[in-house]
Amino acid sequence: MSDDPTIFEQIIDGDIPGRIVYETETVAAFLDANPLAPGHTLVVPKEPYERLDELPDDVAADVWAAVQELTPRIEDAVDADATTVGVNNGPAAGQEVPHVHVHVVPRFEGDGGGPIHAVAGSRPNLSDAEMDEIAADIEASD
Ligand code: AMP
Repeated sequence: MSDDPTIFEQIIDGDIPGRIVYETETVAAFLDANPLAPGHTLVVPKEPYERLDELPDDVAADVWAAVQELTPRIEDAVDADATTVGVNNGPAAGQEVPHVHVHVVPRFEGDGGGPIHAVAGSRPNLSDAEMDEIAADIEASD
């Protein structure tokens, strides 16, 4: 965590404007200022953890509970057909604000967007052995 307050902390603290739609002791949610769709909302831990693996378990649970609670409320508010929920976890994945945030993006039939499968570059051509090795590495790590 950096010493300077992130832009999301500044919103939570009321130092800059933000359209806060949800707040608990540990979590806040507000409208994205440059929405990909009407109702695009960011759900954040109040503490400025930078990446997902830094979140304490209880805070991670609180963030996910907020995502689950808010998703249908957001869909209802903008009459969406669905939502895409995602995290840009690290700069190489497109994270610009170094404060964990879950994007909840309302989706509409025929909106021209794509699925999560569209976010990475070209698909790798992995052999069964390579897949087995990757699975084993993940399973063995902690
Ligand atoms: P990411 O690329 O995942 O880090 O996304 C950062 C998001 O924060 C972008 O969708 C921005 O539009 C959004 N954002 C940046 N500044 C603000 C702000 N002041 N209020 C609300 N959303 C913001």
